[in-house]
Amino acid sequence: MRFELLHPADQLVMMMNRIYYRGMTTTSGGNLSIRDENGDIWITPSGIDKGMLRRDDIMQVKPDGTIIGRHKPSSEYPFHQSVFRRRPDLKAVLHAHSPALVAFSIVRMLPEINLIPTIQLVCGEITIAPYALPGSQLLGENIAAEFDRGHSVVVLENHGVVIGASDIFKAFMAFETLESGALLHLNALKLGALRPLTPVQIENSRKKNIANFPEFLPESHSSEENALRRDLVKFIHRSYEQELFTSTQGTYSARLEDGSFIITPYGLDRMYLDIEDLVLIRGGKREQGKNPSRSALLHSEIYRQHPEIKSVLVAHPPHMMAFAVTRTVFDPRTIPESYILLRETSRVPFGASFLEPQKTATLLSARTPAIICENDCVIVTGASLLNAFDRLEVGEFTAKSILASRELGDIVHISPQEIQDIDVAFKLN
Ligand SMILES: [Zn+2]
Repeated sequence: MRFELLHPADQLVMMMNRIYYRGMTTTSGGNLSIRDENGDIWITPSGIDKGMLRRDDIMQVKPDGTIIGRHKPSSEYPFHQSVFRRRPDLKAVLHAHSPALVAFSIVRMLPEINLIPTIQLVCGEITIAPYALPGSQLLGENIAAEFDRGHSVVVLENHGVVIGASDIFKAFMAFETLESGALLHLNALKLGALRPLTPVQIENSRKKNIANFPEFLPESHSSEENALRRDLVKFIHRSYEQELFTSTQGTYSARLEDGSFIITPYGLDRMYLDIEDLVLIRGGKREQGKNPSRSALLHSEIYRQHPEIKSVLVAHPPHMMAFAVTRTVFDPRTIPESYILLRETSRVPFGASFLEPQKTATLLSARTPAIICENDCVIVTGASLLNAFDRLEVGEFTAKSILASRELGDIVHISPQEIQDIDVAFKLN
């Protein structure tokens, strides 16, 4: 979807809906604004239900101060205005009180942004601004001072977060990435000491899988391919809804009978992805004019080595990833379902998935259908789209239950004898 072609009021309604229904703001907290080409500021109204927002609820403030619309602009309008005044490069401001970031805000701490490379890549350096009364000029000054220093992501003490960007979707992307990073930090603390990446490791990750697949123009599209596109799109949307993917993170692919495969594109919003956005990779070439996800080389290597694998998922779900950023081993012998789907999950050091895709792919087998890549991602495979999705979902649920059990006591794992019985009963060997 060409988001920039939507009217500012429609962009704001769409984004506020997305933030609210993803549990990242309450109905009374949070506000969004866009500055258009004329210098008009479009902003969400004060005191209107965020779950029911409509286009004609959005308020417009002209550069001369004239207010147009049927409500009052958000009571936080002063700090939106001060951010726009100090930073001509910014066209959108997002403010919210999301649960994980507020946890940091109320202990006046910042989340660790070097647990996985994506957070810093999307958000840049983050900072924290001193507390001041909501709606006050002082709050505006405190926030503007941080934006003046060049920061675009500012946590507010005992309040929430303010993010500025060149458009509202980019602001949302940074917000979603940071909230998910904050949740990852909180989850990982339940398992042990955090192991953040070094600056050199972060730098190396920027070279990640820049495989230069040459282009080709497909002459036709088979019914098999079109069916797979249709099903893949449904599973991608579902992965986003189930919070296994974020808007631009999460790679899904599926193999066709002739060995070619279809994969998610790089950088496009997973929520609105459609059949024509997916990229066909055939004979080492990519469909003309499209960019596959950066892990396409790894997917290609997995399919080459394992004819039985029909679908591959690479994702960063915030509970399973807690194991990837600490030294804690992910042991799915918790309930039979977890063991049956995940068996003996392998673990590789940071960089293995993109520096050594061939070697990483050799680790997969019926006994090892998933790999945890330290500080990077989770790789999950399956005999079908549904099987791979099921495995990732079970992995994230398993991780959630292990994290929750920490408060209760030590886990009693299913014993080796009981595991053998499961192997026999479910024909796993
Ligand atoms: Zn607020």
